[in-house]
Amino acid sequence: MPFRRCVGCGSSKEKGELVRFVARDGRLTLDPTGKGSLHGRGVYICPDIECVKRALKKHRKKAIFSVALRECVAVPELEELWQIIEEQKLTRGRYDRGEKRK
Ligand SMILES: [Zn+2]
Repeated sequence: MPFRRCVGCGSSKEKGELVRFVARDGRLTLDPTGKGSLHGRGVYICPDIECVKRALKKHRKKAIFSVALRECVAVPELEELWQIIEEQKLTRGRYDRGEKRK
């Protein structure tokens, strides 16, 4: 199981424990399955509000996401970004259950 580093707290965790984002049309975009369904360089973060807060504070103007993705991306505000992650926790559960049935 590959490990990835969270941009918030900096700890390495299994990919499956982290939320994955990619750059799409200059915007930070959630990978809905968290499993590389959107190709390209990804940035990973724990599904934890404290990590999201840290990532947004770090390196001024949310640049840490642009650095990690190696391109300039527009990053949502904390409330919006957290809502996206919360919603993904629910949809990802459905993906996981769907995959197990196959
Ligand atoms: Zn973290």
